[in-house]
Amino acid sequence: MNARQFKRFLESVTKLTAGQLEQVRSALTTEHTERASYQAIEAARPCVCRRCGSEKVVRNGVQNGLQRFLCRDCGKTFNAASGTPLSRLRDKERFDAYAQCMKNGLTVREAADEVGLTLDRAFRWRHRFLSEVVAHQPKGISGILEVDETYFRESQKGARKLTRPSRKRGGKAEGRGRKSKDWVPVLVGRARGQAQTADKVLGRLTGAEVTDALKDAVTPGETILCTDGHSAFLHLQRTLGVQTKSFVASYHGPVLDKVYHVQSANNYHERLKSWIQRQLRGVATKYLPNYLAWQRLMSWNKEGVSADEVIASALGKQVINV
Ligand SMILES: [Zn+2]
Repeated sequence: MNARQFKRFLESVTKLTAGQLEQVRSALTTEHTERASYQAIEAARPCVCRRCGSEKVVRNGVQNGLQRFLCRDCGKTFNAASGTPLSRLRDKERFDAYAQCMKNGLTVREAADEVGLTLDRAFRWRHRFLSEVVAHQPKGISGILEVDETYFRESQKGARKLTRPSRKRGGKAEGRGRKSKDWVPVLVGRARGQAQTADKVLGRLTGAEVTDALKDAVTPGETILCTDGHSAFLHLQRTLGVQTKSFVASYHGPVLDKVYHVQSANNYHERLKSWIQRQLRGVATKYLPNYLAWQRLMSWNKEGVSADEVIASALGKQVINV
């Protein structure tokens, strides 16, 4: 719109009826969040060819609201979402609204209502938005890393075919104790006084699995690992090349090293559990890594990430644990 047309447009708003004014306001809000969606997608990824990595790319029209590019080297066309879990989702103009729901940890039903999606789509979007974030783990933490394990009850929520008999709501799992196959171990590592959090769903809580889960998160010689007395943590000093400190919770003798606790890791997974169990009413075990990723997004730097950062993360750009 040129300057003269725009001036006339602005002058005309004084002549609008109350109803028309409301329509304009709603159209502006919609336009605003739709543009925010496209801008967040385009700002998140560098403008290089997805196939060959070339920077010799030129603009090549707009498709579904996104700028399309043509690679001068290999002839491939692409947009900012190409090759990501979000690329084939329709209605990208709603990403900003959906990202707000993710940021606030809404249930599928709440998000579906908020954004105007069916329940199926809201659920599919959730996992498309989270799959890249699973890998956004910390690297080379220095200082104290509190490591603690927690357990989630094995769940086939949503599955059409159960491989075990269904359980009554609130019923007791077969076989008491944490070692039972009904429980899935989750390892949480929280950097003391820093924003980073590492987490992983384990097959079993063993020294080898813990070592594998933490090897990138620590810096040999610079990380001090605090754990409880679980046997899986016994040999981490050797396997990870880091100093380890462990305490035994039931130990009532004089406490010499008060600093070596796992309180912050413990608080973190208590929040994780209460959100998953109370608000989301449990989640399927196969999606558990995605929910860990979601919690990392929502708790990054205490306040959590912005809606734009939710979108950038979904497109594969690591904004947490950096
Ligand atoms: Zn190319």
